[in-house]
Order: sequence, then C-alpha cells, then structure tokens
Amino acid sequence: MKLLENRTALITGASRGIGRAIALQFAKAGANIAFSDLAYDDNARNLEDELKAMGVKAKAYASDASSFEHADILIDNIMNDFGRIDVLVNNAGITRDNLLMRMSEMEWDLVIKVNLKSVFNLTKAVQKVMLKQRSGSIVNMSSVVGVEGNAGQSNYSASKAGMIGFTKSIAKEIGSRNIRCNAIAPGFIETEMTAKLNDDVRKVWIESIPLRRPGYPEDVANVALFLASDLSTYVTGQVISVCGGMLT
Ligand code: NAD
Repeated sequence: MKLLENRTALITGASRGIGRAIALQFAKAGANIAFSDLAYDDNARNLEDELKAMGVKAKAYASDASSFEHADILIDNIMNDFGRIDVLVNNAGITRDNLLMRMSEMEWDLVIKVNLKSVFNLTKAVQKVMLKQRSGSIVNMSSVVGVEGNAGQSNYSASKAGMIGFTKSIAKEIGSRNIRCNAIAPGFIETEMTAKLNDDVRKVWIESIPLRRPGYPEDVANVALFLASDLSTYVTGQVISVCGGMLT
C-alpha cells in the first residue's frame, strides 16, 4: 500500500515550482490530485496530463487562492469531482520585494492577501470537509524568512510569519478532531520565484547555506509528503525548515 493511496490532496498554486513538485510526489505516493492556480494554462494542462499518466485521478482548477468566494467554490467543486479531501497544501504565494521606504500600500496589501489571507480562505473552506471525515492534514508553505525576517521583504516575511501563527492556532483548535496542521519553512529553493534574484544575491545566499547548494522543489516535496502522510500522525503545530541548514 502506497503512503497516500485512496487519499485526495489539494495543492494551491501548483502549476509550477514547489507546488508542482509536491503534486508529482503525492501522485507517486498514490494520491489523487486536485490542484489550483490562477489560470488553466499550458503549465496546468501539462501537469494534469503528467499526473493522469501516473495512473491517479487529477484535475486542475482555475481559482484565486486570495479570494474568499473562490475558496468555497473550489472546495465544493473538488468534493463533487473527488468525493473527499484528505490533504490541503497551502502553497500559492508571491513576492513584491522592496525596502519599507519604497514599499507601496498595494505591494503590502497584495502580498498579505495572496500569501496569508489565502491560507485562512482555504483552511476555513476545507475544515468543514475534514471535520466530517474526522481526519485531515494541512500543510502551509511558510519560509525561513517568516522565522528570521529579511531586509527588503517586510511584507513577505510578515505574511509568512503570520502563516506560522495561524498554523499553530489551527493545530490547537482542531487537533482533537484528528486534523493536523503544520508548516514548512523552505530556504533558498530554485524555482521561477527565485530566478528573479541576481547572481550576487544568489552567491551570498548559497555561501550562508551549510550544505552549500540551493534546495530543489523535490527537497520540499519530500517533507510535504511526510507531513501529508501517516508517517507524521503525531506531528502537529510544527514548523519544519527545509533550508540546507541555513536556519540553524
Ligand atoms: P512560483 O512563483 O514558482 O510558483 C507559485 C505559484 O503560485 C505559481 O504557479 C503562481 O501562478 C501561483 N499563484 C500565485 N498567486 C496565486 C493565487 N492568488 N492563487 C492561486 N495561485 C497563485 O513559487 P515557488 O518558488 O514554487 O513557491 C511556492 C511557495 O513556496 C510560495 O508560497 C513561496 O512563498 C514559498 N517559498 C518559496 C521559496 C523559494 O525559495 N522558492 C522559499 C520559501 C518559501
């Protein structure tokens, strides 16, 4: 029996990057995959095809994680299509980096809405389903920056720190109903999000990593699989860093 056999997982923002790697890793472990992103584009279509070719049920949904209304509709649609949701990975996220002096109200509001409010939206919507099922695992994609802070990322680090507070509160709130909630704090992971960084910034980051290499989406996906599966049935309210030792 595979680790996620007969389970359904929802991963937000999964058309590329870390979310995509998690979808593939979960499918390899036997899970049926519902995933969302802002648009049903070529990336989404390709991932959907790749997942189906692995022999699991898979469906992509165009849904804005930062919208409260979209979250409810998304969960209803997935319940109609799949009949259950065992795992939610709140992965959708963006950056709008700037020094506070130059940061606009829009840059602040957008990052908080997409990274933090989305976690409230999806967790609240899926909670009803998981309470009925009397089980569930919620995994929130925070960041080392949410633990440590980072100059030029006050909006992003505030959103990621907020996710950690939310994670711990939800773990305490619904742990008695056999629903677990944990966070992952990735360090420097090579995706399109970090491809924007210039070579000097990359070099400084990598020099500060004890394992002396960037992380790959698969490194994060392995920990997500652990938290999603029964390998972690006694783990809740925790933040697990996947950062090559950067946060040590
Ligand atoms: P990415 O930019 O490659 O992918 C993010 C995905 O989220 C994209 O497909 C994007 O379209 C989607 N998305 C954005 N806004 C959305 C919305 N409102 N609704 C639905 N989908 C939306 O980023 P990534 O590097 O794969 O990051 C994934 C998560 O991991 C993010 O939450 C990010 O903050 C976090 N993270 C990444 C790193 C890193 O080094 N890459 C480090 C720490 C944390």
